[in-house]
Amino acid sequence: MKIAFIGLGNMGGPMAANLAAKDFAVTGYDIVSGNLDRAATQGITAAKSAEDAVKDAEIVITMVPAGQHVLDLYRSILTPARGGTLFIDCSTIDVASARQAHAMAEAAGMQSLDAPVSGGTAGAAAATLTFMVGGKPDAFARANPVLSAMGKRIVHCGDRGAGQAAKICNNMILGVSMIAVSEAFVLAEKLGLDAKALYEVASAASGQCWSLTSYCPVPGVGPVSPADNDYKPGFTAALMLKDLALAQQAAAETGAATPLGAHAERLYRSFNESGGATQDFSAIIRHLAAARRNEA
Ligand code: NAD
Repeated sequence: MKIAFIGLGNMGGPMAANLAAKDFAVTGYDIVSGNLDRAATQGITAAKSAEDAVKDAEIVITMVPAGQHVLDLYRSILTPARGGTLFIDCSTIDVASARQAHAMAEAAGMQSLDAPVSGGTAGAAAATLTFMVGGKPDAFARANPVLSAMGKRIVHCGDRGAGQAAKICNNMILGVSMIAVSEAFVLAEKLGLDAKALYEVASAASGQCWSLTSYCPVPGVGPVSPADNDYKPGFTAALMLKDLALAQQAAAETGAATPLGAHAERLYRSFNESGGATQDFSAIIRHLAAARRNEA
């Protein structure tokens, strides 16, 4: 099967390499020539342009930073692609742009899916990503073997935009819960309560959640996490802020009340602006520990 892969960065690079390793015929393109050169050493045919990459493809995958990049790309690659090609956008983008991308693809006689991922660069390299997919069932069935070559959980979340909706709702839970867990450890320390004692109680009580028991923000507590490696990411605070901002954009567009999501976005923005952007998102605990009451 011929696949065009556009956007060969931190995520797209290893995802495309996994497809090539599993005997898909992959043609790739990235505006950064270094990324294209690296891909060429991993069994991917380098195209001269995005338009060139898609012209013989049966499936086109995009993995770029934001909604505007996807829409700009779709404006230029839908015409040179063959009718009936399946377009899969794996980028994390706003729901409105995702729906617009679907409408553009369908108007051009193509099939389309939004299929954002979780699992980070490690999951991209190990082909263990989770794909959250929105679009029609026939397009989902056609995409399944390709997505399965890059991930281990492929979930059809519903119609157009449902994949992006699932991604930002999940990550809003994650951002809010990481702050809640961090606040509890900051308060515990002020109260003279040992972090390990709090973990022992809360991990088996009603405070239990993934941010506590799989990704504890305190070093030396719970299973190994980025906190044990000086908060080297993992999942950066910059990407958490991006996803929380997408959730707030969607909340504003739909009128949903998300007061804790809004506050989490403000806290992550202030953490990013004070130098936290490249740290793991769990390092928000250091930001909270350094803040005075009523300041955060
Ligand atoms: P990245 O910046 O490393 O890669 C994006 C790539 O797209 C870059 O190489 C860039 O040159 C290329 N690009 C941009 N516009 C292009 C165009 N018009 N034509 C061709 N190439 C173009 O970012 P990333 O970390 O790979 O993330 C990609 C997407 O995946 C983002 O939407 C991000 O939010 C999402 N995501 C990232 C992670 C992560 O841990 N890095 C996890 C989950 C989801």
